[in-house]
This record gives sequence, C-alpha cells and structure tokens, in this order.
Amino acid sequence: MAEVGLSLADRPQARRAALGLRLEETTETSGVALARDFDRHERVVRCRDASSGLNAVVALHDLSLGPALGGVRVVAHRTAGEAVGEALRIARNATRRAALAGLSLGGGAIVVIGSPRTVKSPALFRALGRAVDRLTGSFIATCDQGATPHDLDFAAMETPFVVGASPGGGGDPSLATAYGVYLAVGAAVRHRLGRQDLKDLDVAIQGVGRVGYALAALLHRDGARLVVADRDEEALGRAVGAFGAAAASPHDIHRVRADVFAPCAGAGTLDARTAPEVGAGIVCGSADAVMAGPEIAQALHARGVLYVPDYLANAGGLVNAAAELDHHGYEREQAMRRIADIGTRTQRVLSLADAEGTTPLAIADRLADERVRGGRRALRLASRTPAWAHA
Ligand code: NAD
Repeated sequence: MAEVGLSLADRPQARRAALGLRLEETTETSGVALARDFDRHERVVRCRDASSGLNAVVALHDLSLGPALGGVRVVAHRTAGEAVGEALRIARNATRRAALAGLSLGGGAIVVIGSPRTVKSPALFRALGRAVDRLTGSFIATCDQGATPHDLDFAAMETPFVVGASPGGGGDPSLATAYGVYLAVGAAVRHRLGRQDLKDLDVAIQGVGRVGYALAALLHRDGARLVVADRDEEALGRAVGAFGAAAASPHDIHRVRADVFAPCAGAGTLDARTAPEVGAGIVCGSADAVMAGPEIAQALHARGVLYVPDYLANAGGLVNAAAELDHHGYEREQAMRRIADIGTRTQRVLSLADAEGTTPLAIADRLADERVRGGRRALRLASRTPAWAHA
C-alpha cells in the first residue's frame, strides 16, 4: 500500500477558493442520530460552501489501520441530523469493510445533503475536493450512491486524495462492487441451498442503479430469473428491457417470494416494518448500512433468513479503489484477484456462523473488530517506542 502523504503544497488559487468553505467539527446537529449511531468516531465535520451550495457531513470513524478510504454519496435527506446519522453508520461500516478485506485502511464517509438531480455541479465537487484536501490525507474519497467518477474528476482538480475518478486507475467502483456482491450471492446460495450455479435462481433486486444494474447483468448471464424495482422509472425500464426482468413496486420488492433478495438502493431499507416481510431466504446486496439497526439482523436470523453482512458483500469497489494506492499503480488483474476473495470470505463467515450458532453479522463484526484492535495496539506500541528503535 502506498504511503499517503500530506496535502499538496500551498496553492494561492486554492487558498482563495477555500476562503468561502467552512469546516466545523460537530457534536451537535441531532441528539438522536448521535446517541444511536455515534461509535467514538475520530472526527465528524460539517462542510458548507455558500457559493457552490455544498452542505455535507464528513465522518471519520477509525484510522488505526490507515487513512480512511470512503465513498462520497449524494442523498436528499430531510434533515441534517438524518445525514449525520447516515454518515456515522456508513463510516463505521467502512472501517469494518476495510478491516475484513485485509486492507491497511480506515473507515470514513461523506454524505452530501441534497438530491443528486438538483445539487450536483462542478463547483460543488470542487468545493468538496477542497474540503477533502483540508483533511490532509486522513480521508481519500471515492464515489458512492448518487456520485459518479465524472463528478469526482472535479474534486480531483483540488486534491490528490481521490481515487476512482475518470482518468486512469480503477474507474467506476460500482462494477467491482457488483462483482463482489455476485460472488457473495454465489457463496450464500452454495451454503444455504447447496447449489453450485445460479440457473433459474429467483432474485429480487431493490434498486437497479449503477450497482444493481451491473449485478442484474451478471445474474442474468448465469440464467437467474429477476424481479426488479426502482423509484426511477427510467432505471427500471432499462433493467426490464435488458434482462427480461419482471417489475415490482419499490414498496413491495422486499416481499417478493424469491431465493435471494438483493437490496441495492439506499441505507436503512430493512427496518422493523420491512424485515418481517422479507420474502426471500437469503438477503445479500450492495446497499450500505441497509439495516436500520443491529437488531434487524437478529430478527432476520430468528425467521431463518440468511443475511450476508452488507460490508462483507459490497467490498469490491473499495478493494478496487484501494488498488490505485498500490506503489506500482493500479493493476486490473491483481485487483480482480483480490475482489474474488469476497466469495471465499463469505463462505468462511457463513460456515463460522453455523458452527457457532450465531449470525454471520456477529462473526463479521468480530473478525473486523479484532483486526482494528490489533491496529490500535500496534499504534500504541509505536508511539511508545523510542525514536532510536525506528532507525
Ligand atoms: P445509484 O444511485 O446508482 O443507484 C441506486 C438506485 O436505487 C437508483 O436507481 C435509485 O432510484 C434507486 N432507489 C433508491 N431508493 C429506492 C427504493 N426505496 N426502492 C427502489 N429503488 C430505490 O447507487 P449505487 O452506486 O448503485 O449504490 C447502490 C447502493 O450500494 C448504495 O446503498 C451504496 O451505498 C451501496 N454501495 C455502492 C458502492 C459503489 O461502488 N457504487 C459501493 C459500496 C456500496
């Protein structure tokens, strides 16, 4: 893993542009979100830029294993508190995703508040790039829901701490994410149904945006039968047309009787109302922080539904983006080999969960948290080691 250095040297132009940008450490905003989702995050920062309209939350969860490599998502939250809660949850997931994937990276996330249809502009992403630059390498941005590699190209004009932007590198992480989810689905199907292939498997996909569509393509290629739902009629029509998929309403997709339910839309779609209605025996998708709370995994388990932890299944994009930080630069074949480990890792987590009579989420949390604790111990020891010992 390449060293991530300090931010670019002072550039007068960037300094002038940064004058309108305000970064504030925050512990305020929404008591409820903070009380429920705060997990001793290292930093939570509100970014506002009046001229571009940027209004965002940066959450850095744990940097013990390295700088945070996290997604930038653009979501139309009703309140800032909601956005803070989501940023806290996905940043914590990002720490575990990197730890479980064996990467020397920490966890963080940026939530830009606003509808992707209306708030996005080159100026907003340039302001975001300046905000990322001010974090001096503790956060490396890649794209997530609602943000594209093209959007990040503008951020990359202001900071070197961006991966997954258009020129060179690993490109759009969504394809790698979809491939990882596809491998996790395969592992879960082998584990639960004892089937080696996906032919005639019934899969319900919630959200056929960038990841959901690419996942649908892989499953369709293997002969799976698809039911899809999307709030966006255009996205829905594209998937129905391309894969001969049946369409369901966004309100009902989780209820569809299927072998697998793949949530690939937003956060929190599995909650106390929807989880008891899930119609599939396996839940495995890309949506990050898909459960409204940790109790949902237990509720699914009690109903005999196999839930593959979101941050285990959706690590492909992160692994692909992290490959850009390798000292020899991005190598696609090597990145794909690392993504392929998601299948074996899923198999291992599911087997351990069965052996210990617990949920796959409990196992994944434990494995990830052990690795983070190891990183913290190493940092503590390094800080106590006298300077001469490093020579
Ligand atoms: P996207 O914005 O391209 O697609 C999301 C799709 O879901 C959109 O078409 C949207 O209309 C639809 N949608 C939103 N709410 C819905 C609902 N309630 N019911 C049905 N459809 C709904 O986003 P994406 O990049 O494909 O990401 C999808 C999910 O996967 C997100 O949760 C994201 O955080 C997660 N994820 C993405 C990546 C990545 O590489 N893009 C990596 C890890 C995790």
